[in-house]
Amino acid sequence: MGDYRELWSNLGMDLDKHDILCEALPEAFGSIYLTQENRPENMNYFNYALAEVHGARIEEINEAKANGKKVVGTFCVFVPDEVILAAGAVGVGLCSGSQFWIEDGEKVLPRNLCPLIKAFVGAKVSRTCPYFQSSDMIVGETTCDGKKKAYEIVEEYMPVHVMELPQMKREKNYEQWKDEIKLFISRMEELTGNKVTVENLKKAIDLVNRKRRALKRLYDLRKNTPSPISGLDALLVTQVAFLDDIERFIENTNALCDELEERVKNLEPTGKKRIMITGTPMAVPNWKLHSIVEGLDAEIVVEETCTGTRYFEGEVSTEGDTIDDLLKNLADRYMNINCACFTPNNDRTEDIIKYAEEYNVDGVIYYNLSFCHTYAIEYKKVENALAEKSIPLLNIETDYSEEDSGQIKTRVEAFLEMIGSGEKLHTVS
Ligand code: SF4
Ligand code: SF4
Repeated sequence: MGDYRELWSNLGMDLDKHDILCEALPEAFGSIYLTQENRPENMNYFNYALAEVHGARIEEINEAKANGKKVVGTFCVFVPDEVILAAGAVGVGLCSGSQFWIEDGEKVLPRNLCPLIKAFVGAKVSRTCPYFQSSDMIVGETTCDGKKKAYEIVEEYMPVHVMELPQMKREKNYEQWKDEIKLFISRMEELTGNKVTVENLKKAIDLVNRKRRALKRLYDLRKNTPSPISGLDALLVTQVAFLDDIERFIENTNALCDELEERVKNLEPTGKKRIMITGTPMAVPNWKLHSIVEGLDAEIVVEETCTGTRYFEGEVSTEGDTIDDLLKNLADRYMNINCACFTPNNDRTEDIIKYAEEYNVDGVIYYNLSFCHTYAIEYKKVENALAEKSIPLLNIETDYSEEDSGQIKTRVEAFLEMIGSGEKLHTVS
């Protein structure tokens, strides 16, 4: 990474503290990613994007700011990127996947909260995230109680707009979400001084759909046995998707898929167990579970998470001639994300079963960030449904620290052995 100290200093960052983060990331990335064998050539772009995550991309975003663009940070896949783009702003999905920020988060939040929430608040409080520092506004949502209340704290530091997500999926809830998107449009127009029109909104919908299609193409390629790309690499692609310039991301993801299409013509069987991860998001640089699983005799072939299928499944229709028509299309697509914040949320279990078949998985690992109650409670339903289908399941609850890595490794090892032996025991908690 080049020298960006002046830029970081202008962003009001705590440079000394940020240096500590910058030292740790390349080391972790090198030992987890660069030690993988036979990686696709086109992963070089994503390696570069990660290496420059606090450098070149931040410079680019700040150039856009100097040219009058606004930057908007988001935390959840419910916030419609299409509106941000139609208003001529830059959207960044803020990561919050590092243990580094937990200590600062705990200075202002209770300790018994999900690490994602503590990390995002810690990143702001410690002034060590250049995306946060570059953002003119944060867009929150009322998905879970922890996040909802944490935005009140972030608001003490910068402007925040919170969208009220309904937690049921009745007809009136679709209408409510449509109204929320309408309010969000007004707030974005106010922030940017640009009008959201049918024309620019349709264009933005098209663009985000193309991004979804590129990711879907990548995931479809993972349905091959063996997968032509590791789960770690596929996860990195999705993580970069939240931060990168969209056009460039689409181009590079499609180039990667072209290469993978060639690869699948000459795949040799590896005998590795095919694993699905389901549960809470894995924001960059959270590679903990993937690196443990793929360090053993297994490959992760699909993630039913917000850094996986929930991010890209389902496109937004561009049918209609009015903003109201497009709002309805947006509401329909986003309300179909099957997050555990909804009740009931049976469609998520159906998705898991569908993916287990489509991706031909040998077993499922339920990944739960500590203190995420909605996903933890939903485990039981998933367990019952998978037991009925005789699909092996392992429950892992963890945070960002490395303390339990050895224990998780032992449990995953036992799980893979169980799958291999064809034992009748389907679930391991
Ligand atoms: S798990 Fe739910 S609340 Fe969390 S990012 Fe995904 S959609 Fe948003
Ligand atoms: S993982 Fe769970 S507790 Fe954490 S932010 Fe997402 S929904 Fe909330």
